[in-house]
Amino acid sequence: MQKYDVIIVGAGAAGLAAAAVAISRGRNVAIIDMGDVPARKVVASGGGRCNFTNSAVAANRYFGINPNFVRGAIARTTPFDILAWATAHNIQFVEKAPGQYFTKHGAKDIATALINDAHGAEMLMQTSVISIHKDSCVFNIKTNRGLYSGASVIIATGGTSFPTLGVSDFGYVVAKQFGHKIIPIRPALCAIATKCFSSELAGISIDVEITVGREIIRDSMLFTHFGIGGPAVYRTTVRDFDDISINFAPGIDVYAMLTDAKHKSGRKSVAGILAEFLPTRLAKWICSDNKHIADYRDAELRTIANKVQHVSVPKNEIKLHGMQSAEVVRGGVDTSQISSKTMESKLCQGLFFAGEVLDISGDLGGFNLHWAWASGRAAGANA
Ligand SMILES: Cc1cc2nc3c(=O)[nH]c(=O)nc-3n(C[C@H](O)[C@H](O)[C@H](O)COP(=O)(O)OP(=O)(O)OC[C@H]3O[C@@H](n4cnc5c(N)ncnc54)[C@H](O)[C@@H]3O)c2cc1C
Repeated sequence: MQKYDVIIVGAGAAGLAAAAVAISRGRNVAIIDMGDVPARKVVASGGGRCNFTNSAVAANRYFGINPNFVRGAIARTTPFDILAWATAHNIQFVEKAPGQYFTKHGAKDIATALINDAHGAEMLMQTSVISIHKDSCVFNIKTNRGLYSGASVIIATGGTSFPTLGVSDFGYVVAKQFGHKIIPIRPALCAIATKCFSSELAGISIDVEITVGREIIRDSMLFTHFGIGGPAVYRTTVRDFDDISINFAPGIDVYAMLTDAKHKSGRKSVAGILAEFLPTRLAKWICSDNKHIADYRDAELRTIANKVQHVSVPKNEIKLHGMQSAEVVRGGVDTSQISSKTMESKLCQGLFFAGEVLDISGDLGGFNLHWAWASGRAAGANA
């Protein structure tokens, strides 16, 4: 049986980040992954451009039972550290939207740098970990290719979203086996299936404000044949589940505009007025009537304005579009049983967790990969 100081299960973002730090400490490291190549999700991320960090990284951009859990790790690995790391690896990057850093030449640059940093570790690919047992101070790891033993184990098996990229629930199974609680998982950063909108609107992209709980998210939204998607909606789904209200005309007082048009351009249709600031198909869906605007009572115009600015989608009308297209999962290993400083289990010495397998999900915009780097590095520094 091969023996290592540290065995990392999962050669994704968190596992590779952990490996680099553990190797730099002189640890004898093995990384085990069931896939053909390391960093598969990294390569697919950000539409192949990998949005690898965000200058707004802070606890309020993370979600889970205790988002403050991230504080220690993100204070030790900041966005500036990650940009410096990218620069040291000659990775060119661009700030595509304020604070959002993407690679200039493709996500493969990040994957290559991670793999180079993990040079020195034994990389066991196409190897599935089947079970882990602790025997006094040693973890015995059974795989489809034989047995391995490690003084420490880092579980970096990710979440179960986007199964076409190769995922497993093994991290949750092991956590439970060692007495950890699992916060129920669900898809997040995904589209919403809802019958509140007509499929005739599919393809329309529009800047909106979505109110969810006490937060207002301003971003673009896309109508789909089954409901709604796009960044604004994705961001809604990673937050606590609630009724949402959509404003299709942020910054405009639509009621004032309609009453003003009633007096100044009375022979126009309401859809015609709305189409001055909304896509025509959406304007017609909101008011298909061809009556002159002068023929509307103010109360009717108020109702129409509400259909533009306060479109309520109750939570019982929302169905998350499923794990198959979600970028991350909400839920995972309960962070109250993990040290936020070291990522070590409080229940089992030598067992560490890093990345998406934990009950931490980040906002859209590079926050999830940043969490993978920060938590992976913390685990690698202590395993
Ligand atoms: C399409 C898509 C685009 C995304 N874009 C972005 C983006 O631009 N920016 C951003 O911040 N986030 C993005 N994310 C989210 C981000 O990619 C993940 O949060 C991040 O990769 C999680 O890293 P991880 O190391 O925890 O898990 P993963 O990267 O999922 O790695 C887990 C690894 O564990 C291995 N594994 C699992 N079980 C076993 C087992 N039993 N035995 C052996 N190996 C096992 C898997 O093969 C996998 O390689 C995106 C996600 C998706 C799906």
